[in-house]
Amino acid sequence: MKKTYLLAPGPTPVPDASLLAMARPMIHHRTPQFSKTFAETAELLKYAFQTENDVLILASSGTGAMESSITNLFSPGDEVIVVNGGKFGERWGQISETYGLKVHWIKVEWGQAVDPAVIEGLLNDNPSIKGVLTQASETSTTASHPIREIAALTKDRDCLLIVDGITAVGVVDLPMDEIGIDVLVSGSQKAFMLPPGLAFIALSAKAWGFSEYATLPNYYFNLAKERKNLKKDTTAYTPAVSLINGLKEALLLIKEEGIENTHARHDRLARATRAAATALGLKLLAPDNPSSAATGIFVPEGVDGAGIVKYLRDEMGVTIAGGQDHLKGKIVRLAHLGYVGTFDVIIAISAFEMALKKFGHDVELGKGVAAAQEVLLEAYK
Ligand SMILES: *Cc1c(COP(=O)(O)O)cnc(C)c1O
Repeated sequence: MKKTYLLAPGPTPVPDASLLAMARPMIHHRTPQFSKTFAETAELLKYAFQTENDVLILASSGTGAMESSITNLFSPGDEVIVVNGGKFGERWGQISETYGLKVHWIKVEWGQAVDPAVIEGLLNDNPSIKGVLTQASETSTTASHPIREIAALTKDRDCLLIVDGITAVGVVDLPMDEIGIDVLVSGSQKAFMLPPGLAFIALSAKAWGFSEYATLPNYYFNLAKERKNLKKDTTAYTPAVSLINGLKEALLLIKEEGIENTHARHDRLARATRAAATALGLKLLAPDNPSSAATGIFVPEGVDGAGIVKYLRDEMGVTIAGGQDHLKGKIVRLAHLGYVGTFDVIIAISAFEMALKKFGHDVELGKGVAAAQEVLLEAYK
């Protein structure tokens, strides 16, 4: 018997209440019974999203909602800015180009945040730009981008700010209405503590206005149609009934914790993880603008980072994430989002220390754990 722990930046652990709700016998979705659950869930979702806008629930992974924001808001040839600071930024650009948009790429070094002045310059030089597409938290590099500053640039222009908040919603304070985010996207398997399979998307009034003039084709992901159905407590197509049952329970946990406390917990777990890495003498990938969802840590020179990730998973039962592309084997990513608390972080750090030792690095066991404990004690009176 080997006990396993899932500490990757998605999928994330699922709380018992959601697991049990998802195990309920199937019911039909065009019924008052399901509509009641759906309506309650949609309302709770607005709380977690910190918005008065409708939050649509799509049966897809997060990328489906990303794609829908392109196909519902733009027309062929429209110009957009894409912040490409990692794998997911790259994805925004790939989707845009797939649909014939003209992309102004902003290449950002992995681990860095985009400089809003670069966006401002592009917007000033190209007044026809219709959208700025970015991540709030670029999970592949564990960096966050300055969304408030970017929103200040798009707010009074005829240009939408479209934010992939897949590892930011439910993690950090991101009140879209107040900040001026026009589209905010998330997915079930990150901070929403569910299995993969649901995507969420909220649009501002300005974004709904764009949708009336957009001419790109779409069928399954027709957001106006979804909104019309949402008003009638249903969905355009068969909803993922079981996942929505689980979602309601997960959202009740967030409501019970209080969204500010949910954000504070993520911030604390992230600070503890960074403190541990620093105490171990290791370098952070995004020291200046870290995400609160996961922490990217460089493994020591000469240590096989991909081997460590595999060893942790297959021998120790602890699943973390490694690096992608040019950072493959060079970093690990310890996640701390969703249904995680003090002792999940302790498990991740202590297992990482032990694996480092196994891989021949001269590590003082417990040093990272102790540094994390000092931060984590804040949570207890
Ligand atoms: C996980 C993730 C995605 C991709 O979502 P899928 O559910 O795999 O489609 C997109 N963006 C970010 C920032 C993510 O963390």
